[in-house]
Amino acid sequence: MNLDDFYNFFSAAKQIFEENLNELCRLDSVLGDGDHGVSMLKGFKCIESDIQDRKYESISDLLFNAGKTMMKEIGGTCGPLFAAVFMQAGMAAKGKTEIGTEDLALIFRRASDAVMNLGKAKAGEKTMVDALLPAAESLEFSKTEGKNVREALTEAAEAAGRGAEATRNMLATKGRARYQGEKSIGAVDPGAMSVCFIFKALASV
Ligand code: ADP
Ligand code: MG
Repeated sequence: MNLDDFYNFFSAAKQIFEENLNELCRLDSVLGDGDHGVSMLKGFKCIESDIQDRKYESISDLLFNAGKTMMKEIGGTCGPLFAAVFMQAGMAAKGKTEIGTEDLALIFRRASDAVMNLGKAKAGEKTMVDALLPAAESLEFSKTEGKNVREALTEAAEAAGRGAEATRNMLATKGRARYQGEKSIGAVDPGAMSVCFIFKALASV
């Protein structure tokens, strides 16, 4: 993936979050306060307007600044967490003009470690980690199998999708959803769905 692909990724992501705005808010209204779709769309809209105004010269700067925009523009819990994903991605991409499967594996391992450190969540607590970690593991597997970026991202998106679906039967012990206790069981976590949409957008470019 080159710099143009990452520009296209941010447009694709904005579009996916536009299309799924209501669905993400609906999921968050079951488990939280109903704002998740609005927050994510706001983040990607702000990134889109920032990257149109400024011409980034490197993948690293583009991703890192996208993280900074998320940090500044999105409130709530998910702002700093998704900001960490893109800021880590930017740092891991330092010096690269092309991103391959090996780089993606490193980027998302770092991103998922950062989210887990920041949110103090581990796998199985019904959060975005439950989609991000399986996607990172899938990319690491693809790296060892020598898969190309297209195959690796398609499979990572599928892994994120299965991970998000698996949150349905989990008990929430982190974030606002934990206040629902046993009632949290039966609903998919919106943050995990957002991770799935991000991988879909990546796979689409
Ligand atoms: P808020 O709860 O502040 O309204 P959002 O609704 O935007 O924030 O985001 C909620 C999402 O954030 C959840 O669906 C979950 O995936 C994620 N989340 C919440 N707390 C944590 C945490 N401690 N670690 C990882 N992810 C978390
Ligand atoms: Mg919310």
